[in-house]
Amino acid sequence: MPNLKDATRAADTAWQDDVRAGVRHVRDLASLPLLAAEREAAQAAATLHKVRAPKSYLDLIDWNDPADPIRAQVIPSPEEMEEAEGELGDPIADHEFSPVPRLTHRHADRVLLFPTYQCAVYCRFCFRKESLTSIGRGYTREALEPALAYISGHSEIREVILTGGDPLSLQDTALAEIRARIEAIPHVRLLRIHTRVPVALPSRITPGLVAALQGRLIVTVVTHFNHAREITDATEAACRTLRQAGFVLLNQSVLLKGVNDSVEVLEELCRELMYRLGIKPYYLHHGDLARGMAHRRTTIAQGQALAEALRSRLSGICNPVYVLDLPAGGGKVPLGPCHVEGQDGQSWRIRGLDGEVRTYREVVGE
Ligand SMILES: *Cc1c(COP(=O)(O)O)cnc(C)c1O
Ligand code: SF4
Repeated sequence: MPNLKDATRAADTAWQDDVRAGVRHVRDLASLPLLAAEREAAQAAATLHKVRAPKSYLDLIDWNDPADPIRAQVIPSPEEMEEAEGELGDPIADHEFSPVPRLTHRHADRVLLFPTYQCAVYCRFCFRKESLTSIGRGYTREALEPALAYISGHSEIREVILTGGDPLSLQDTALAEIRARIEAIPHVRLLRIHTRVPVALPSRITPGLVAALQGRLIVTVVTHFNHAREITDATEAACRTLRQAGFVLLNQSVLLKGVNDSVEVLEELCRELMYRLGIKPYYLHHGDLARGMAHRRTTIAQGQALAEALRSRLSGICNPVYVLDLPAGGGKVPLGPCHVEGQDGQSWRIRGLDGEVRTYREVVGE
């Protein structure tokens, strides 16, 4: 009978093979079926933002389609070299709200903690890409010391959000250590993990990884699927493992021109997330002002029209909230449709999901 150790080793070999067979360096782009001009352009763009993708994720690409939505997310393109006026290096002001290294504290009850600045996949549209370019910013126990001391000293903090970088790109032992150090802080109630690993490297969701995260705290895994084509048997198995471990699953997507900026694509994505993977669509982010990403951004009006259409087509649990993360630390604000047309005393004019404006009279006790 195979013992647990053998099973764990086999699970670890599978994801490591997937990483090794994928694109890890600029030179690996040569192994992809790109035209010479495309490859040269990709190599040039990869000098500004690293390139990386596991083999199983690259296998989802239809190379006959130059506009393939998976390809658009991971293969560097020449437009990335074009910086548009108004774009920013730190679009949501992570640095301005960072009292100690590796931590951002903008909302009283929750902090972002950055255990690593490395990822399993480098998304071309990443709003944090300029933080990811510096080398030597992996996890060490010492590197997180000031951030953990800060959390200990601020009893208003209830949620610790591991982000980065991708926290699930770390080894099980590192994850277990980070989880243990966070749960030792008595006022922390919830551990949140923002990750693309269940999407781009689902084989990494092993029994060992799950065990590393289980402990005193409620664990919420916030995945990052942008297109229904990313939902496969492998991602389904990974998400089942996470759900069976008792973790709460949410998803955030980024609205990307040419990837998911149509009602049909978003509708299918949100339904499949909820109905197939058991993941509640949480946010649909308006494209951040990351440099070189003008070609992937929609207008806000386009996003609002999509959000409005989704609202009437999808059930409440399948519906994400369309948000903009304001520059300069304004936080995430909902941009979705406003149904209030006007107010006259206790009489409100409100537009229904059928488009018709109705009058609603407030009735409240003294
Ligand atoms: C997005 C973000 C959070 C989490 O916000 P929620 O709305 O709770 O998902 C927390 N802190 C910072 C700085 C953020 O950017
Ligand atoms: S996984 Fe997240 S942090 Fe890493 S490149 Fe993609 S969007 Fe950025």
